[in-house]
Amino acid sequence: MGTCVELNTKAKMPILGLGTWKLWSTFHEKPLVKGACQKTLDALKLNYLDLYLIHWPLGFKAMEELVDAGLVKAIGISNFNHEQIERILNKPGLKYRPANNQIECHPYLTQEKLIKYCQSKGISVTAYSPLGSPDRPWAKPEDPSLLDDPKIKEIAAKHNKTPAQVLIRFHIQRNVIVIPKSVTQHRIEENFKVFDFELTKEEMETILTFNRNWRACAFTMCTNHKDYPFKAEY
Ligand code: NDP
Repeated sequence: MGTCVELNTKAKMPILGLGTWKLWSTFHEKPLVKGACQKTLDALKLNYLDLYLIHWPLGFKAMEELVDAGLVKAIGISNFNHEQIERILNKPGLKYRPANNQIECHPYLTQEKLIKYCQSKGISVTAYSPLGSPDRPWAKPEDPSLLDDPKIKEIAAKHNKTPAQVLIRFHIQRNVIVIPKSVTQHRIEENFKVFDFELTKEEMETILTFNRNWRACAFTMCTNHKDYPFKAEY
């Protein structure tokens, strides 16, 4: 999983690194981390990754070794709550602080406290599933739909924009990186057209009131794991 602007499809180049990638969840044990990262680099024909995220709040030490080995430029985390981040930051001998925390975020899960906490520690935040992940296979009929929310639609209409564009713009104005996913050309183009309008302060405040702490990706199969991150308040 990752973001890659351009792939080197020919031979491995001397200096080439791109994008953000994640350590796959079944490779979080220390002896497996380097091999998994190398496999990604080989598949992409890259020498290094700009940012490599650990998907779940498990080991962090092995990630630091990837920086020392020159395989990644920066390491980040994903789905960590603030207590888990605090534990990393307080680790004796911590060599590299996490550069980024990738978390689910959208108007139904505004993450105000976690974003404030991360930003106060110099950790940038990336919002995943910003449109509410409408094509997720585990969706239930009673789940709310951000793209169909009449209040989001109303704000979008005022700006002559689509609900998706409002949902994306919401993060930009909070200084949060946003990664909507689309395989459809016209939607990819639409999702980039978010720099020519601005939500008003009142609209931003209104959108924040839509929070209901609802997660599209609650990873409910893991709720009994000791490190399950979503039981903490933030
Ligand atoms: P999104 O909220 O980005 O929703 C993607 C869905 O929205 C697709 O069905 C897409 O359709 C549709 N869509 C995209 N643009 C538009 C538009 N303009 N109008 C209407 N529909 C649109 O959810 P994802 O869950 O896919 O998350 C996005 C990113 O977050 C991914 O890169 C993923 O890797 C990451 N992620 C990270 C997780 C983590 O644990 N760190 C967990 C979950 C996701 P279509 O593609 O058919 O155009």
